[in-house]
Amino acid sequence: MKLKEIYSQNKTNISFEVFPPKDDDNGEKTKKLFEEISVLKNYNPALISVTYGAGGSNKDKSYNIIKSLVEQNINVMPHFTCVCSSKEQIDNYLQDLIDLNIENILALRGDEPQNNDVCYLDFRYANELVEYLKQKTDFSIAVAGYPEGHISAPDLKTDIQNLKKKLTAGADIIITQMFFDNDRLYQYMDLLEKENITQPVIAGILPIISYKQLEKMLTLAKVTLPKKLTESLEKYKDNKDDIKHFGIDFATEQCQNLIENNIKGIHLYSLNKAYSVSKILDNLNYKVCI
Ligand code: FAD
Repeated sequence: MKLKEIYSQNKTNISFEVFPPKDDDNGEKTKKLFEEISVLKNYNPALISVTYGAGGSNKDKSYNIIKSLVEQNINVMPHFTCVCSSKEQIDNYLQDLIDLNIENILALRGDEPQNNDVCYLDFRYANELVEYLKQKTDFSIAVAGYPEGHISAPDLKTDIQNLKKKLTAGADIIITQMFFDNDRLYQYMDLLEKENITQPVIAGILPIISYKQLEKMLTLAKVTLPKKLTESLEKYKDNKDDIKHFGIDFATEQCQNLIENNIKGIHLYSLNKAYSVSKILDNLNYKVCI
């Protein structure tokens, strides 16, 4: 089912994100990922998205996961980045996805390489990729949104103008970066509305499963931590189980509030683990379809 159709329904759809495991030469981590997905898929997600390395760095691993999920009749949305990729590389991968009958795609610029070795080839920003995908394919397109502004944008207002370019180019939905204060999302949605942006906003929710992992992610994104969250993190950060359970409770509350506010979709960053996501959905009494 295409994004437009999924998110026109009058309910909060659930989706999950997974990534190809790193350093997995013997395939054990990928095998484990499929076990986790076999639990996640019981929750009947609207889709599962699979990340993609900037410049196509993990292209084959992403492709193999996508293919296997398609074979399991799961609605898969590949992420697709354009930084450091040529048109030819992009065309080849697009054809692979078309051959798998993929319907939806998350079009991204991708993170620039950290060694200052910026390599724009045929595309510089995600709006150019969206435009290209619209010309070349029939995919329904998602794009990334940043409730507190993208980390390299001068300010939120400018970032929203840049988001608008992706939507004008033909994107159907916006999936947000993680945020921990729902009011930030609602304020962002108000700003989008003022810009006459009508595409559904899908809330990206990260269940905190480890303090170290959260710290690392916060270096890559502009995200405010509410006082209640920082105080609890301080309290629980040295105990792995405590932090995981706190993360489940915190994300449950976030999701409950989003559902009450009729958000069209919640995209759970699973971090390739089913435990926290399942507990959150169980807390929400989300229907399990075994
Ligand atoms: P853009 O929309 O191109 O924006 C990048 C920056 O440039 C922003 O600061 C924006 O304000 C500015 N900008 C945009 N367009 C213009 C323009 N026309 N002129 C001037 N300035 C402009 N990364 C990966 O590598 N792989 C993934 O699988 C992946 N998945 C993600 C999934 C989600 C839901 C999200 C939110 C992010 C994901 N990312 C992923 C991270 C993303 O690639 C980075 O945040 C990247 O730095 C920006 O990508 P973008 O598509 O938002 O870029």
